[in-house]
Amino acid sequence: MPVTAMPKRYVFLCFACNGFGASSRKDSITCSPRCRVRLHRDPEAREQLEFVRDEIGVPPGYYARSMAARALAPELMENCRDVDAITDKVFEIACRMAKETQ
Ligand SMILES: [Zn+2]
Repeated sequence: MPVTAMPKRYVFLCFACNGFGASSRKDSITCSPRCRVRLHRDPEAREQLEFVRDEIGVPPGYYARSMAARALAPELMENCRDVDAITDKVFEIACRMAKETQ
């Protein structure tokens, strides 16, 4: 069985399309270059980003990862404060689901 070392990936919800994204960066908030442009042009999406950053006072990347964790594994959010551990677990689950649906 081949074993490939995979780089650490963070799963997040895209601010522009609300779909899931995965990135090696903790501060990713859009799933693609297309969504990055869309975020800059869409006033509603930009408003949400500014609200999270300025009103709630949470780094947008942190918020995006938390939203993915909440959507994919709500039971993990109950007692766990370590978002990194949660997103790792979520990625694991997402990979398993992707393999199972192939
Ligand atoms: Zn997107």
